[in-house]
Amino acid sequence: MPSHPKLAAEFVKNKDRAHWHDESLWFVRSKRDKAARQIPEWELLREQASKIKMHTISHLPDLLEEFERNATARGVQVHWARNATEHNEIVHGLLKKHDVTRVVKSKSMLTEECHLNPYLERHGIEIIDTDLGERIVQMQNMPPSHIVMPAIHMKKEEIGELFHEQLGTEKGATDPQYLAEAARQHLRQKFIEAEAGITGVNFAIAETGGFVVCTNEGNADLGTSLNKLHIACMGIEKLIPRAGDLSVFLRLLARSATGQPITTYSSHFHGPAPGAEMHIVLLDNGRSEISGSDEFRRSLNCIRCAACMNTCPVYRRSGG
Ligand code: SF4
Repeated sequence: MPSHPKLAAEFVKNKDRAHWHDESLWFVRSKRDKAARQIPEWELLREQASKIKMHTISHLPDLLEEFERNATARGVQVHWARNATEHNEIVHGLLKKHDVTRVVKSKSMLTEECHLNPYLERHGIEIIDTDLGERIVQMQNMPPSHIVMPAIHMKKEEIGELFHEQLGTEKGATDPQYLAEAARQHLRQKFIEAEAGITGVNFAIAETGGFVVCTNEGNADLGTSLNKLHIACMGIEKLIPRAGDLSVFLRLLARSATGQPITTYSSHFHGPAPGAEMHIVLLDNGRSEISGSDEFRRSLNCIRCAACMNTCPVYRRSGG
């Protein structure tokens, strides 16, 4: 795997692309700064979030057990994975048990971390990313280039060409609304056919045993309500202690990510619907070790807003 500086150096060789890519990310960054300035207590919120996270990480074993107890009481089946291999095996085991061969998945950086898609595909399972940007890069067999805007490195002309080849849209079409509608029709069929839905988890709440998934497209809701098996994949650092803590993070996340006051859909899951199953896979994959490191512990505070990627001259150009 090439290093980040090498990948970034390759990216900027195309001066044109580097320039408009900079402009796109600067636009998002400016929206974030404006949204932050509109809230007088912004720095207080960040400080509060940091304290909650530091508290959570230092009490992680107890809080995880509290979450497991409360989630189980709500009918959610909780699984523990030490590493990516175990995570993928658990997910595959659940799909196999239910004879599932078609799955839809909303955005989850944890499943990228575990390389879940290629793993399931090797086992004969079709897995379709339903976030529009993720679906675009999946069609290209590429990883997302950004954790919030996976296809931000692509021009609408390139997406038009891709859709023409794979979805049969008109050649040369670049109208975003036309292309989005074509993607919508394509994905709608995949939603209907899917026998299971996989989601990530933005926040899980120890006190209630519930969890929250944030999307701007409603794809997590649709992907988990049209079938009877929901598998949520979560890194253990995504826990927060109390329901009351959630507002701090929801206010920070959307503003930091895209400059929106709130993510369009903040979906709360509190157990399966009648006749359905809800599973949550809690992944460690080195996080416990990091929580014991004075140097790196604070990296577990990350809420994946991607604001840092909109600024860093290397990471924003080096891919996902
Ligand atoms: S490290 Fe980056 S992605 Fe994570 S919370 Fe901070 S700015 Fe957001």
